[in-house]
Amino acid sequence: MHNPTTLYLDNAATTPLRPEARAAMEPFLDAAFANASSLYASAREARKGIEVAREQLAAAVGARPEEVVFTGSGTEADNLALKGAAWHAREQGRDGIVIGVTEHEAVAKTAEWLGRVGFRVRVVGVDGNGVVSLDELREAVDEKTAIVSVMWANNEVGTVQPVAEIADIARSARALFHSDAVQALRFLPVDSSRADLTAFSAHKVGGPKGVGALIVRRGTKIQPLIHGGGQERGLRSSTYNVAGIIGFGAAVGAVAAERSSVVPSVEMLRDRLQAELCARITGVHVNGAGAPRLAGHVNVSIEGIEGEPLILLLDGAGVAASSGSACQSGSTEPSHVLVAMGVSRPLATSALRLTLGTDTTEADVDRAVSAVADAVVRLRR
Ligand code: PLP
Repeated sequence: MHNPTTLYLDNAATTPLRPEARAAMEPFLDAAFANASSLYASAREARKGIEVAREQLAAAVGARPEEVVFTGSGTEADNLALKGAAWHAREQGRDGIVIGVTEHEAVAKTAEWLGRVGFRVRVVGVDGNGVVSLDELREAVDEKTAIVSVMWANNEVGTVQPVAEIADIARSARALFHSDAVQALRFLPVDSSRADLTAFSAHKVGGPKGVGALIVRRGTKIQPLIHGGGQERGLRSSTYNVAGIIGFGAAVGAVAAERSSVVPSVEMLRDRLQAELCARITGVHVNGAGAPRLAGHVNVSIEGIEGEPLILLLDGAGVAASSGSACQSGSTEPSHVLVAMGVSRPLATSALRLTLGTDTTEADVDRAVSAVADAVVRLRR
């Protein structure tokens, strides 16, 4: 169970449920349990809640409510974007998929699968900060490209991509542009009208797990992955996760409302954490500090230290941290993101990711620095 003394610095993996989300969800977990597709009063109430959430998300990301397709996760939203667009484009004679090399597995593995079923997949490299190479992208996109998928911001390092330029390159070839904005939404004012398809996930912004959304810009044609009762304009059949969607809407609304006032202080604490780690411990290399980054991300490699034992020692000291992306925990393979950025294999396996939340304090930062410094001393003995 949750230990109240745990210092949680893994907000990129997931975030605690916001009180606004919990309060909005509660009635729909209890008396208001009706199926939102039914006709009686309590069902109409559930339906109304979903439409409010749709408006909250749309307003937060510069979309129209009718462009929102609620899904079962961010991973599903990415799958729907890539497979849905690829399937439709194939009918138009387009078979190219272009992705960035640092994409989350939700995009990378989907593209890999599309490659196995006959699509041409090109993977575009990044510079030392994780920013996608626009020259390489221009060269990879052609008149047969169906979709370009480059994330808004990276989950491991926090690197923010030049989305407007990437969109221009995709559009010049009349290809669709999809962006995975799962990590970006908490700290950046994501304008989804820059892309044709944009993926989000509730649990990264203080909403519940198991809810996501894909913004499908008006006029963008994709095929559904899940066929059935025809919910979400036929793009995502299944009985609505009423409470989950309503919690997502409430969380997004709260995040968008507070963003401009809380982000600068998160960024200040992040910079302090990074500077202190460098000052207190020898052989610390900051990954991806030379490009625009999400406010809460610190990713450092510490010479001579293996990521996994460090995480376990930090856990023992009550600090929840990550050695890379959560999906890679338990694997000894170095992060594909750091390797793509040109970080050496030994340094890539010694990566520590600390991701701050909007509730992180100065005292938390000091405690984290001491815990990491102590753990490194023990591991270097
Ligand atoms: N995309 C990115 C960039 C992520 O960080 C994550 C979660 O780790 C996902 C997609 C997957 O989202 P979900 O956990 O909702 O499936």
